[in-house]
Formats: sequence, C-alpha cells, structure tokens
Amino acid sequence: MNVNDYFKYKKRVVVKIGSSSLQHPQTGSMNLMKIEKLVRELCDLRNQGMDVCLVSSGAIAVGRQAIGLQNRPEDISTKQACAAVGQARLMMTYQRMFAEYNQTAGQILMTKDTMLEEESCQNAQNTFEEMFRLGIIPVVNENDTVSTYEMHFGDNDTLSAIVASLTGADLLILLSDIDGLYTDDPRKNPEATLVECVEKMDAHYDAMAKQSTGSDVGTGGMATKLSAARIATASGTDMIIANGKDVGIIHQIISGTFRGTLFRAQNDETFDIHAYLQNR
Ligand code: GLU
Repeated sequence: MNVNDYFKYKKRVVVKIGSSSLQHPQTGSMNLMKIEKLVRELCDLRNQGMDVCLVSSGAIAVGRQAIGLQNRPEDISTKQACAAVGQARLMMTYQRMFAEYNQTAGQILMTKDTMLEEESCQNAQNTFEEMFRLGIIPVVNENDTVSTYEMHFGDNDTLSAIVASLTGADLLILLSDIDGLYTDDPRKNPEATLVECVEKMDAHYDAMAKQSTGSDVGTGGMATKLSAARIATASGTDMIIANGKDVGIIHQIISGTFRGTLFRAQNDETFDIHAYLQNR
C-alpha cells in the first residue's frame, strides 16, 4: 500500500505486539534482538515528536518460560502466577532497553473495570495524558494477576483498541503473525488475497476473518482484530494490521509504503465504549 504522507502527520500512535512475536518459537525464550528493534522503532517515533504507547502481551508466556512450565497453562491461578513473574521480567527488559535510547517507559496495567467505573476510567485517562505530557512511553498490558474471568478483556487486540480510544490516538498498529486480513485462508487457498483497505467495517469482513489464523502462544486471532477495528475506527482511530515478523514495518507504515490492512477511522458519534464493554 502506498499512502505517501498520510501517516507522517500522526500525533499519537499505539502499537500492539503479541506474545508469539516476542519469543523464539523453538525455545519460548524472549527474542531480545526483536524486542530491541521494536524499542528502537518506538524511540524513533518519539524522536519525531509523536506520543507513543506500547501495548505488549507476553506476561504469561515469559513467566511460563521463567518458571519452566512445559505446556501453556490452562487454569486461571497458574496463568496468574506466570503473569506475576513474566510481567515484571518483561517490564525490566523494556525499561532497560528504552533507557538505552534515552527514553523513559512506564507501566500501566488495566482490567475491564478500569474502563467500566467512571472514576477509574477518568483516572486512567489522566494518567496516560500526563505520561504523554512528560514524554513517557506507557507500556500497557492487562492486569492478568488479578483480573477474573468477568473482568477480563481477554485479548490485547481489544485492549489496544480501548487504549487507542481512551487516549484519542490517531493510529493503532496491530503487529501480528500474518500480513493482514485475507479474503480467505492463505495457507489453504492460493487465490486468497490481502485486503489493503477497509473503508467501513461490515459483515462480509467478519466472514473473511472466520478463516483466521492463530498461534498457540497468545490469545487473539483475526476475529479479535476485527472487533478491535470496530472499536478503534468508531473512536476515530485509523487501525493497521501488519506482520510483526520484522518490526521495521513500523517505520514503513509511517513513511506510507507497507504491506498490511488499513481500517479507516469513521468517527461514529453514536459509539459508546462503556456500553460496548458492558454488553461484551
Ligand atoms: N495479557 C496476556 C499476557 O500478557 C496476553 C493476552 C493476549 O495474548 O492477547 O500474557
């Protein structure tokens, strides 16, 4: 896709990266070269004057590896114990790497009730705003150690769209393990083509997403990415799905030439994020 200067003037960007993109598939250990490159990309956006926010998964996956569990945990308490270890390790790595490029990162952990209670939602919004004002890069995740099933966003695609909406971001980038939305499953159908631009979401895109791919490390699939697109675009945020295999895609996006799917912002006045979350 070539959109020239369109993304160059974005002021506030949220980037989401999933667990599978942060690990070496063979060992499950953190892919430090990749995390380093991601951090460098984000610092360079900051250096261009943009407000930058990172939504990073990986707490459970990093924790599982640190504890030495063979299989992905299924029960809530093991997941929570993994997240307690993994989130701290992940953050330690981010803090150190951002500092190497002279930037400061800070952690925000959210649960669904952060959004549902008016006061805590306002509070979270103020915190983000103040962090941006101070030039800090918020690194966000779900507060997996305490969130119960009912108070669970469940996946960071949705969480990142909520963060984009809450902070009034003008661009959300979802880094995935696939190039974007395909008309069909590209692994099974050689005729499947990449959808470059979605002007307005409708049901036929949901049908395409049903052929989604998923990894066994993180949570999302194409369906959660499409519901993220609904939240983001209705809130006035452009959203892009792109392949995070090479995180250098971030500056390709900003410079306007990249492979991926763009969902155009709609700015739907009737969209109410609280009502959306309540009914979810
Ligand atoms: N919050 C989860 C974690 O950090 C990830 C959720 C997701 O994969 O979307 O492990």
